[in-house]
Amino acid sequence: MEIGHGEAPSIPAGLYLDGRDCLVMPGLVNAHTHAPMALFRGLADDLPLKVWLEEHIFPVEGRWVDSDFVYWGTLLACAEMIRSGTTTFADGYFFEEQVARAVQQAGLRAILGQGILDFPTPDSPSPAESLKKAEDFLQHYSTSSLIHPALFPHSVYTSSPGLLGQCQDLADRYGVPMIIHLAETRSEVEEISQKYGKRPVNHMESLGLLSPSLIACHCVWLTEAEMDLLARRGVKVVHNPESNMKLASGVAPIPELLAKGVPVGLGTDGCASNNNLDLFQEMDSAAKLHKVHRLDPTVMPSDVVLHMATLGGAKVLGLDKEIGSLEVGKKADIIILDLNRPHLQPIYNITSQLVYSATGADVRDVIIDGQLIMQDRKLLTLDETEILKKMQEIKGKILQRVSH
Ligand SMILES: [Zn+2]
Repeated sequence: MEIGHGEAPSIPAGLYLDGRDCLVMPGLVNAHTHAPMALFRGLADDLPLKVWLEEHIFPVEGRWVDSDFVYWGTLLACAEMIRSGTTTFADGYFFEEQVARAVQQAGLRAILGQGILDFPTPDSPSPAESLKKAEDFLQHYSTSSLIHPALFPHSVYTSSPGLLGQCQDLADRYGVPMIIHLAETRSEVEEISQKYGKRPVNHMESLGLLSPSLIACHCVWLTEAEMDLLARRGVKVVHNPESNMKLASGVAPIPELLAKGVPVGLGTDGCASNNNLDLFQEMDSAAKLHKVHRLDPTVMPSDVVLHMATLGGAKVLGLDKEIGSLEVGKKADIIILDLNRPHLQPIYNITSQLVYSATGADVRDVIIDGQLIMQDRKLLTLDETEILKKMQEIKGKILQRVSH
């Protein structure tokens, strides 16, 4: 459902929401996450990315991740995202059809990338199988209004040049974006440079993979020339400041990328490396990280950060004609914040208030595609009690298997 003119009496309102002392704004866009990983929240913290990924996340994913895990993990993530004002998110994981099932139940808008790796994954015994599974996924969701399918080859260090090329062919054939983690850590740059004689961005360029349909997440370790190349090729970038801080990956050159005209969105990354999906907190972190890193309080002002979490993120996902701002003709993805609270008063500058003072808990109502999803902080599409109960059951299974 779209946003219309207020004076159009021909459209009868089925519901009136009291907006006194409230802010009505576009729903937030979480441009990079792994929703089912909400179930790994707090499981392995305070570790470097390589150890965290190879010794903890990949092994536990191999043992525990199945379709049921993905479905319930996504429901948990959707409940959290709705509660904190996210109306659209971009995901990358396995069993992505289960993510889609949960997302449809929740009523969220999403870009869903089916995960593809060079080794056996929880949902595919081989890369060839995962490509086949990905194609089935693209076919199945090609006509859905809230779900946009995509491909998610995890990274250049987990996907061979051949596999990346096959992913690109598939993405081109179906006209869908490709999501990848790129230049996230210094060790990735060292590994790829040793293996291919090129840094990650140049490696992607040599394979012909830098294009406007590429959504490159992180982009922490870039040279000036690589930034120019990303700008020239129209690549979209997602900034994940809290994940980068927590895994001590580094500080992405976001002010430089923005200055070069690269579209940048904001993402939380998965809950195992954040450990929440609250984009209001992420905005606060994004604004402050770059200031302290450069010892310059004028970089990343609140309006720039808010743009990354709304229209900027929509552009990164190729949805800026539909969402990201409240305009006549755009989809009705709207959140309402209750401003009549001590930590949000007095208001001198609303964007400052949203970035530095508000949290996801200030979101009162959520509307997605014209459908009321949360009213007075009550979820209308999901059974929160059931989801939380199921979490205890899944946690019990995980802990049982950890101890064996
Ligand atoms: Zn990620």
